[in-house]
Amino acid sequence: MDTKNKTKIVLITGGSRGIGKSIALSAAKRGIDVILTYNSNPEHGWAVANEINNGGGKAVALHLDTSKINTFGGFADQVSQLLKDEWGREHFDYLVNNAGIAQRSLIKDTTEEIFDELVNVNFKGVFFLTQKLSTLIIDGGQIINISSALARFAFPGVAVYGALKAGLEGLTRYFAKEYAERKIRVNSVAPGTIDTEFGGGKGDESHRQQIASMNALGRLGLADDVGDFVASLLSDDSRYVNAQRIEVGGGIMI
Ligand code: NDP
Repeated sequence: MDTKNKTKIVLITGGSRGIGKSIALSAAKRGIDVILTYNSNPEHGWAVANEINNGGGKAVALHLDTSKINTFGGFADQVSQLLKDEWGREHFDYLVNNAGIAQRSLIKDTTEEIFDELVNVNFKGVFFLTQKLSTLIIDGGQIINISSALARFAFPGVAVYGALKAGLEGLTRYFAKEYAERKIRVNSVAPGTIDTEFGGGKGDESHRQQIASMNALGRLGLADDVGDFVASLLSDDSRYVNAQRIEVGGGIMI
C-alpha cells in the first residue's frame, strides 16, 4: 500500500550522464530513491545507480530509448514490476522527463531525418512516455519536463530543437490541466548553457567565453546547478508551484 510517509521515488529519463545524472545524485542525497534510465550506455547508468546504492541510497538503472514509442508499454510494465519487487509499492512519486538530444543544423540544411529524430526524443517521446507512465505516478505527485532557455530566445542552428522545447513548455501546461484531477503538478525547468557533453562543453574556449559573456553571472552553468535545483523541487516545499516554466540559466540573454 502507498502511504504519504514512505520514501519518495523519482524516475529520471537520461539519468546516466550530464544533468540527469546530477538530478539523480542530488535527489538521492535528499533521501529520494531513484529509478534512472540510460539509452546507449548501461555502464554509465549503473555507475550512477551504484554510486547511490554505495552511498546508502537506493537506485536502479533501466534501459529506455525515448524515441521508441512502441516500447513504452513494455517499459511501464517493467517499472510496475520493479516497484512491486523492490519497494512493495504500486506507484512512484516524481517523473523527470530529462532525456534530450540536440542536432545543430541551419534551417536550410535540416533534413526530414534530423527533424524526426529531434521530434521523437524531445517531444513525442515525452508525450507518450508520460501518457504510459501516468497511472504509475501517485496522486499528488509531480512531473518535471526539462526544457531549454532556447525556448525563450533564438540562435541560428537550433530552430527545431528550440521550437520543440517551446512546445514542451506548452505541453507542460496541458499536462497540468489534465492531471489536475489527480493533483499531479507539472512544471518545466529550462536550463541555460550547461557544461555537459551535450551543451556548452562541446565548444572551443572562445565559444565558451562568448556564451559566458552573454550571462549575467558570467559563466556557463554546471550540471549540478540544474541538478540541485530540480532535486529541490522534488519536495512538498514546492507544493503550490504548478504549470510553471522556471529558467535555470544564471541570467542568460536578459
Ligand atoms: P547529455 O548529452 O549530457 O545526456 C543526455 C542523456 O540523455 C544521457 O543520459 C543519454 O543516455 C540520454 N539519452 C540521449 N538520447 C536518448 C534517447 N533516445 N532515449 C533515452 N535517453 C537518451 O545531455 P544533458 O544532460 O546536457 O541534457 C539533458 C537535458 O537538458 C536535455 O533534455 C537537454 O535538451 C536539456 N538541456 C541541456 C542544456 C545544456 O546546455 N547541456 C541546455 C538546455 C537544456 P545515453 O548516454 O545512454 O545515450
